[in-house]
Amino acid sequence: MDHFELKNGELYCEDVRLAEIAESVGTPVYVYSRATLERHADTFRAGVAAAGDVHVAYAVKANPNLAVIHVLAGRGCGADVVSEGEMVRALAGGVPPEEIVFSGVGKSAREMVAALDAGIGQFNIESEVEGEELSAVAAARGKRAVAVLRINPDVDARTHAKISTGKSENKFGVPISDAQAIYGRLAALPGLAMRGIALHIGSQLLTLDPLEEAFVKVGELVAALRADGHVITHVDLGGGLGVRYKEGDDPRWPDEYGAMVARVTADWGVTLMFEPGRVIAANAGVLVTRVIRVKPGVEAPFVIVDAAMNDLARPALYDAWHDFEAVHPTGKRFVANIVGPVCETGDTFAMHRDIDVVAAGDLAIFRSAGAYGATMASFYNSRDMVPEVMVSGSEWAVVADRIPAAATVAAERVPDFLKG
Ligand SMILES: *Cc1c(COP(=O)(O)O)cnc(C)c1O
Repeated sequence: MDHFELKNGELYCEDVRLAEIAESVGTPVYVYSRATLERHADTFRAGVAAAGDVHVAYAVKANPNLAVIHVLAGRGCGADVVSEGEMVRALAGGVPPEEIVFSGVGKSAREMVAALDAGIGQFNIESEVEGEELSAVAAARGKRAVAVLRINPDVDARTHAKISTGKSENKFGVPISDAQAIYGRLAALPGLAMRGIALHIGSQLLTLDPLEEAFVKVGELVAALRADGHVITHVDLGGGLGVRYKEGDDPRWPDEYGAMVARVTADWGVTLMFEPGRVIAANAGVLVTRVIRVKPGVEAPFVIVDAAMNDLARPALYDAWHDFEAVHPTGKRFVANIVGPVCETGDTFAMHRDIDVVAAGDLAIFRSAGAYGATMASFYNSRDMVPEVMVSGSEWAVVADRIPAAATVAAERVPDFLKG
């Protein structure tokens, strides 16, 4: 459930007309609903509450806007970060350092130092060499880094190949078959305080079976590590739960997921951690766009909107589906192709889609754009950086400015040696 609904024949976000935001800020513009973010955070927590002592670390990469992080921190969410930049955002958004988890295969020594100095709660180590480096960095500063080892369980998450992370050929984690030996060596290092295991097998998962298969393997590993004499207190089960992007998507959360987790982990005796991103943010945001013009096509007309792949990359990257709706629907429908102005055929949001009839100047939205939307935006084609707005009840504010493409020109220069 979200808070983007029709009232008196036009689309609102909570109690604010989307048309009011579009007229004031211009388009394209992302609009987020605070009530939806909070509802998703609360629902997720309620879903996994059956599993006992849980920590929820919101995966910042899904939507790193400061206001979004602030809202979620207010709901008791920590943060899962994958770069120093995301860590800085999480801290600025009000997440206590001890509630921050640092993931990612390429943490640099500089990032390790910054995270240690900030006093973050946990490092998720993705390889033995990374663990050795983290130990050295921490020991040199007289510290021990609290850490867990991310394993790759080699399960097929049955999602898009570009967002599958738990197959043996993916770059993430250490092979589960090697994990016991690697854990033993890392636990003996002076700069590490190893306390458990992490995994994250992929994103937009619409079935629980791969997750359950992976969690069962982790349970066996935890038992084996304890038999080796290790004290395992934490297991980080990652994120990955899918959301409804289109009719027919049937996400298994939060109740079914929570029940499965509670059943599989019942005798683990650990603090469970979660890293949800998409399930929190996706349906809490829309991308508002204006139709530039409708161009006749051979098979179907092209609805050319002022949003493009540089604003919302998911369709171009993952063939993703986003529902398209007029802000002032008339009830009439037609079949059309929806495209942006960027000079790439990949700048296509939908082909042969049955949509609300729209004409030049009309406003429309792409739904479910709150996760992996604005954060992937770029200046490609020297287009402006898309702005973001947060709505709370009848109040709203711009929470990320539109950055004009001209600002990038100002940051560039032609050196003298190229002149004359
Ligand atoms: C991306 C990512 C997540 C969040 O995934 P969602 O599918 O958005 O829930 C969680 N943990 C790690 C390590 C990630 O890389």
